[in-house]
Amino acid sequence: MRSEPILRLEGVSKVFGEFTALDQIDLDIHEGEFLTIVGPSGSGKTTLIRILVGIEELSKGKIWLRDARIEKLPANLRPTCMVFQSLALFPHKSVGENIEFPLKLRRQNPLDRKARADELLDLLHLPQSFYDKRIHECSGGERQRVALARALAFDPEILFFDEPLSALDFRLRKNLEKELKDLHQRTGKTFVYITHSLEEAMVMSDRIAIMRSGRFEQIAVADEIYARPVSRFVAEFMGEVNLFSVEGTASGTLVGTEVDIRVASADLGSGMNLAVGVSATLMVRPEAVQFLSGDDDADFMVEGLLKAEYALGSRTQYKVEADNGDELAVEKLREDRFSGQVGDRVRLGWNVEHAHLIRPG
Ligand code: ATP
Repeated sequence: MRSEPILRLEGVSKVFGEFTALDQIDLDIHEGEFLTIVGPSGSGKTTLIRILVGIEELSKGKIWLRDARIEKLPANLRPTCMVFQSLALFPHKSVGENIEFPLKLRRQNPLDRKARADELLDLLHLPQSFYDKRIHECSGGERQRVALARALAFDPEILFFDEPLSALDFRLRKNLEKELKDLHQRTGKTFVYITHSLEEAMVMSDRIAIMRSGRFEQIAVADEIYARPVSRFVAEFMGEVNLFSVEGTASGTLVGTEVDIRVASADLGSGMNLAVGVSATLMVRPEAVQFLSGDDDADFMVEGLLKAEYALGSRTQYKVEADNGDELAVEKLREDRFSGQVGDRVRLGWNVEHAHLIRPG
């Protein structure tokens, strides 16, 4: 069951001079959820988070923390904390001093501070011996953990993260993604996270919010956004995808208006119904497309030429050129590699349960 919103945004806008960075945003963030905001550079993600933690003023709108309006509350009086990519640790101080900083601000006594720092070192899988280590002696991943421990020492109700892992190498990032998700579960706190990386969003989040030009284009669980995007923009943002322009016809089926798509039956269910002459976009992800052999059939079929094959480690990706010149992507697990050759004429097919119709908005 969905919990009550801990934070509610109503019509939040931000203008910088003539430029609208946030355009009347409504959003409910639920208690204990992990919400990730993704979107292209300049879409307004950082501005939104800065407003939520109170280091940027909004131009218009309301922000509720449970029953209280907080949009005018200064940052230090909000129960929120932000973890930046730059981390903002004190480089010449020890790990322990960094973690204890918020506790010292609150004038907690040294014994209690040390006990809490020890707990947080444990929680972040840092050895107790790190307590006396200087920040400049720590690796990137260790610093990241110290920054998280310090953020948790503030004991905020909501933690905001602005691309905290983007400066780390791939392997470390992957490990920390899982640790963050685990940390979220163990602490039960509300996490709001910004990233450019779709994979990062998919691994960690309960919900993903896709931002575009100062507005949310779609907010949903990862699977919904991946399988049923509301727009071409979201579909393309969520990884490799095949998109076809289609139109409804009098016989009740769809026709491709650019790529020639053969549709096996007029009755593919209500999800594929489109009024005569109405245009939409048909979507299928590369992993759902099959190479058809012999007289195999599928609900949707396209013919073309196999142009290229790329080994991606565990998967193989194929590029197929349809007769109008458009490219389609197909992906197979390495062990299910297609037996044909580049240059072969191929038939591709997919069934209606893997197809999604993006209707005009
Ligand atoms: P990135 O992924 O590159 O960090 P973002 O989605 O976080 O981008 P923001 O940093 O929120 O985007 O910026 C949104 C828009 O607002 C950008 O076009 C930016 O240039 C503009 N902007 C942000 N801060 C200011 C400011 N102080 N004055 C003027 N324009 C600003």
